[in-house]
Amino acid sequence: MVSSWLALTCCCGYSCRVPDDWDWFVQAEATLFKSRLASAAPAQSVELLLHEGIAYERCSVHEAPFSTNDREWLRSMKPSQEDGVLYRVPFDHASVLLRRRRALIKQGFCFVSLRDMACIAVHHFRSALRQQLTAFRRAIPARREELKRVQPIFDRIFAQLQAQTTNRSSASSSAGELPRITPQDIDQVAERHFPLCMRQLHRKLRANHHLKYDGRVQYRLFLKGLGFSVHEAMTFFRTEFIQIIPTARFDKEYAYHIRHSYGLEGARKDYRSLSCEQIIDGSAPRQGQFHGCPFKHWDSAALRQELYRDARVQPETADRIVHKAENGGYQSACRALLAASHASGADVDLQQLHPNAYVDASRVAAQQQQQQQNRM
Ligand code: SF4
Repeated sequence: MVSSWLALTCCCGYSCRVPDDWDWFVQAEATLFKSRLASAAPAQSVELLLHEGIAYERCSVHEAPFSTNDREWLRSMKPSQEDGVLYRVPFDHASVLLRRRRALIKQGFCFVSLRDMACIAVHHFRSALRQQLTAFRRAIPARREELKRVQPIFDRIFAQLQAQTTNRSSASSSAGELPRITPQDIDQVAERHFPLCMRQLHRKLRANHHLKYDGRVQYRLFLKGLGFSVHEAMTFFRTEFIQIIPTARFDKEYAYHIRHSYGLEGARKDYRSLSCEQIIDGSAPRQGQFHGCPFKHWDSAALRQELYRDARVQPETADRIVHKAENGGYQSACRALLAASHASGADVDLQQLHPNAYVDASRVAAQQQQQQQNRM
């Protein structure tokens, strides 16, 4: 499962010279691995683990140590259609499932359904990848001279990989088959899968046909991260803006900045979309501005009202999310909204929150839900 990743790890690992990039790399690979598993038969996760020498004891819901209550709970979780097979897993291998209350703890072990063994496989994949990266990082000083020669090649490969994972346009994961988001379907995707910060900007752009400077920067870099080409971004913004200003004015005042974001003007830097930290720590929106992070910049009443309007979120969950935001847990509140937006069973584990990663996680979760329903 992991050994075959060594070559890629060496190449990209060397290029990831800051901790953020290492995390990004692990997260990107884990997401890809997870979406591949999602379209495979549940038993394949167990086979992969066995192939790596990781075996878990197998038992059935009908056996000890389960009480009648446990069995009922397990039945309600629909352990699997494979006659209630469960696996006895050390609880530190199943933290994601425990957070989502999808595993039963008994005698210091978690009992995990066959269907959820994919999460355990992802856990092992992630930690093996981290170990390999750490080992590789330690080996770098000894081979620094040698590696210097190939650094430019690594840099190019790494830049392309990052572009492919942040610009989803070019990537439609073969197993996950997440189709590219286009200007034509953005309204529907925005309501279902955008984080609140970007949903707000999208709605305001559609309603007012305009966004002020900070909002434009935040939203157009996010769209770039989604995979919009410069042509698509230009057409998308122009279509809205020219409803209230002449086309010539748009071309004179706004088009340059869109091209600039794509590295086609000025310093020709290829700008990346803003991270949650940049948005949260950035300037607060003033009257008529809609940028920022709603969990930080909105007052509790406005946030509560927005969450109450979302049919996917139960009122008590909405209250919990508002409470987290009030206590400064902005990203934690955002993760909780992501989880609440998908029925239980959806995989919304997101280690490093980013507006573009939120969209991916939400779409993968919806896809997994659909696949689970199809299997039932
Ligand atoms: Fe957007 Fe990040 Fe705030 Fe969520 S936490 S709303 S993704 S800025």
